[in-house]
Amino acid sequence: MKVAVLASGSSGNAIWVSSGSTAVLIDAGVSSRRISQAAEGLGLDTAQLSAVLVTHEHSDHVSSLGPVTRKFDVPACATAGTHAAIDRRLGKCPGRTVVEAGTDFEIGDLLVSPFAISHDCAEPVGYSVSDGRTVVAVATDLGVVSHPVRHRIGRADCVVLEFNHDEKMLLDGGYPWFLKQRIMSNEGHLSNEAAARELVSLRDGPMSALVLAHISRENNTPDLALATARDALERAGRADVDVLLAEQDRPTGPICLGLDAQSTNVITSTGVQASCTR
Ligand SMILES: [Zn+2]
Ligand SMILES: [Zn+2]
Repeated sequence: MKVAVLASGSSGNAIWVSSGSTAVLIDAGVSSRRISQAAEGLGLDTAQLSAVLVTHEHSDHVSSLGPVTRKFDVPACATAGTHAAIDRRLGKCPGRTVVEAGTDFEIGDLLVSPFAISHDCAEPVGYSVSDGRTVVAVATDLGVVSHPVRHRIGRADCVVLEFNHDEKMLLDGGYPWFLKQRIMSNEGHLSNEAAARELVSLRDGPMSALVLAHISRENNTPDLALATARDALERAGRADVDVLLAEQDRPTGPICLGLDAQSTNVITSTGVQASCTR
């Protein structure tokens, strides 16, 4: 299985997951042109795209949902609450599929498991996707790590987890108080510190790759997120886990799992280049 974070952050999100014959896109918050260019640049086959899995209706996750579903002629999968919220804001999306947290469904040879997350919107979910051999779980835009989130990321080989902000940077920064409160709330965003605490509970799981995602440009730095994650993994006895940074303006990956796992990951201070050898 291959995972590529095409874009991640408050200006737009899109994550590619493919089995080799079927691909899904988790969120469409950047233009369809950028999605095509980024995917093709990483050697991913856009003809395999079979669905867009929508986490929630915030514009950084759905701004290009209409153009992307039309361009690739694929359905938009979202919870009933998310579909209703999107309909109100963007108009009805063609080919919509309603999904439910806790109810698995198949797309081609991928098994998709939506799970509930806590965020300030209608009916948000994260997604776990498996090809039967390996699992990737995507959990961003969440105020707390609830039991369903812990359950799913604890069984994933690749975990894409929100490292949104450094708590001190957010508190000391220039955001208005109401916004700071919203971000810190149980329906806001996960801090470096909260995400790092969670890594300890993943220590006995199959995780081999961790992608730090939805990193704030105002209230965090990639180096701080990376250092916090690495420190937590080291303390958990899991310094073997590959840690990658998802970025707003350039793609990360593809990360290759299972049979595709002959990959090389090079981590630099400015980001990560990872490439599959096949
Ligand atoms: Zn977001
Ligand atoms: Zn959001």
